[in-house]
Amino acid sequence: MYDLVIIGGGVWGVAAALAAVESRQGSVLLLEAQPAAASESSAKAGGIVSDLVANPDDQRWVMRSRELFRLAQAASGDPTMIRQDGMLSLGPASHRSVMADLVASLRSRHIPVEEWPIQEIRRRFPQLDRVDDTLYGVWTPDDWHVNPTAYAFAALDRAKALGLAVRLSYRVQRLHAEDREVQIEGPGDPIHAARVLVAAGTWTRKLTQTAGIDLPFRPYRTQLASLDISGGYDLPIVRNLATDLYLVPDGPHNLLVGDGTQLWEHDPDDYRTTGDPEFEQEVAAGLLALSSRGERARLRRSWAGLCGATPDRRPLIGPVCERLWVACGDSGFGIKRGPAIGELAAKIALGLAPQPPHLLPHRFANVDFPLRPGSGGSL
Ligand SMILES: Cc1cc2nc3c(=O)[nH]c(=O)nc-3n(C[C@H](O)[C@H](O)[C@H](O)COP(=O)(O)OP(=O)(O)OC[C@H]3O[C@@H](n4cnc5c(N)ncnc54)[C@H](O)[C@@H]3O)c2cc1C
Repeated sequence: MYDLVIIGGGVWGVAAALAAVESRQGSVLLLEAQPAAASESSAKAGGIVSDLVANPDDQRWVMRSRELFRLAQAASGDPTMIRQDGMLSLGPASHRSVMADLVASLRSRHIPVEEWPIQEIRRRFPQLDRVDDTLYGVWTPDDWHVNPTAYAFAALDRAKALGLAVRLSYRVQRLHAEDREVQIEGPGDPIHAARVLVAAGTWTRKLTQTAGIDLPFRPYRTQLASLDISGGYDLPIVRNLATDLYLVPDGPHNLLVGDGTQLWEHDPDDYRTTGDPEFEQEVAAGLLALSSRGERARLRRSWAGLCGATPDRRPLIGPVCERLWVACGDSGFGIKRGPAIGELAAKIALGLAPQPPHLLPHRFANVDFPLRPGSGGSL
């Protein structure tokens, strides 16, 4: 019998597994359905890590996640895991007061931030030559683009060195939470655990339902395209708050362009994983509206992944019954907070951190709720 079994080897589950073995509280097993860690949403993400978040929990989690990403990068020796590209947020006049509050909050936390009028945007990034004159910019030079898969592999290596047991290609089919243990059914004999933490991303609700427990959680779909820009480009991470389109530099010729969010419930076992033709057209038009470099762009491929919505857009972290805990509900920005959230979830499950009441999975009276915009989730 394991002291703790963590289900899900994405960024959240791997971070939880590492924190659990580091705390040396007994035997820990990580179960992952795919043949490798970080194969689902964590592999599909744009990888933006930005301090431009409003909620105080998020601010702390981004800060702590940055420390954990740095530790993973140092342990792996992989210099490409973190890239400090800086992010330019482009806002319409209607966003000005919200952005002013965020800028003030960044300054109070001593995080570098500059407000740029359109002339400064064009001076600093001449290739943003088509940005609408009515937009203004907020420049956060310390923002990163991370490689979540590289992080997960490095964190997993470290956790295995500290004694973590891992079973890949192990899809949990059913959970039985009993008085003295949780029985985990999957391929082969059942696995027995004193405690189970379900960090299975957008599958988390389906898994707790096998134990008779429902969650206020809905998966929704979002898309990303990879473009080849012939001759290269000189652009930072750009987030256009007027349209929700975002650009992420991903190598000298490769640019990721995202949004295409679809705010209705999707089944993680049955949804279209390639990008829609309409999304690809939006990407082309959105890029051309910012930069003439868009004329040199060629679509390499596009894809779709799922994110998890909750009624208040805050994650669900904590117990759902005596022996079962969950960590889910990323609202589309679970990489930048993921290492810290995984760590917190493991510590709560092991009784090493107090349970914040406002994160309790059953804090809502009803499990049904309308999905609200998640694409602006970082604000
Ligand atoms: C297109 C796109 C772009 C994004 N861009 C960003 C971004 O720029 N910045 C940001 O912060 N966030 C971004 N996100 C959000 C981010 O990807 C997620 O918040 C994050 O990956 C959540 O991590 P996770 O570990 O909870 O989920 P996942 O990475 O999905 O991990 C869950 C794991 O559980 C496993 N699993 C599921 N069911 C079972 C089972 N029955 N048995 C065993 N294992 C199981 C799955 O195989 C999977 O590996 C983006 C998401 C998408 C889709």
